[in-house]
Amino acid sequence: MTKTATFRFYEELNDFLSPEKRKRLFPFEFSGKPSVKDAIEALGVPHTEVDLILVNSRPVNFKYNICNDDYISVYPVFESLDITSVTLLRSKGLRKLNFILDVHLGKLTAYLRMAGFDCFYENDNSGEDIIGIAAKEARTILTRNLGILKNGAVTRGYWIRSQDPKKQFEEVVKKFRLFSMFKPFNRCIRCNGLIIPVPKERVLHLLKEATKQYYQEFFHCSSCHRVYWKGSHYHRMKKFIESVLSTESINL
Ligand SMILES: [Zn+2]
Repeated sequence: MTKTATFRFYEELNDFLSPEKRKRLFPFEFSGKPSVKDAIEALGVPHTEVDLILVNSRPVNFKYNICNDDYISVYPVFESLDITSVTLLRSKGLRKLNFILDVHLGKLTAYLRMAGFDCFYENDNSGEDIIGIAAKEARTILTRNLGILKNGAVTRGYWIRSQDPKKQFEEVVKKFRLFSMFKPFNRCIRCNGLIIPVPKERVLHLLKEATKQYYQEFFHCSSCHRVYWKGSHYHRMKKFIESVLSTESINL
């Protein structure tokens, strides 16, 4: 016998639905007793994007088996609203801010590292590598590959909507509300190591003549020893980050 439940998805979860299902109630036909997680993923929404499910106004977890005539509301990860008193589908919140990015997100990785965020990135990681490292190191996966987020082993992840690296950076900053957590000049863009101050005389042999002349303050990566100073690149980055910060009040 075919049974029917009614679904409604909220906010950005609608991005994953076919147009006729967006921002409205729609029927979902099923047989047997599928879990609500399987039903949500069958509709195209990765479970990692979901933080609260209400069935007939009561919170349920992913394992809940849907029944005929259920009315199911599905909400995204709330970073700005406190819903912890209702329920969370994970034992811990999603505020762990270590990321792992897929192979297509090298530029986004650089922007996030510039802003001081811990980002694991290797340009030859497979989807399986990413899922394994994310689980082991409790990292949030950032990816444009929905297949990765639909893997049952993944608990924290976000599907990057934009294809433009600067817009991707804005997306992540807003999604995870990183505004107050920026720490520019803290992390190496190349290897994710921590940047520490270094006396000029120790890096003198690595500097070009003009750099030696104009800059006094130097830093280097504690891991790969790449040398940094507050040159034009730093000021461009600072401007970019400030432009993203200034959008907070407008777009949230
Ligand atoms: Zn480094």
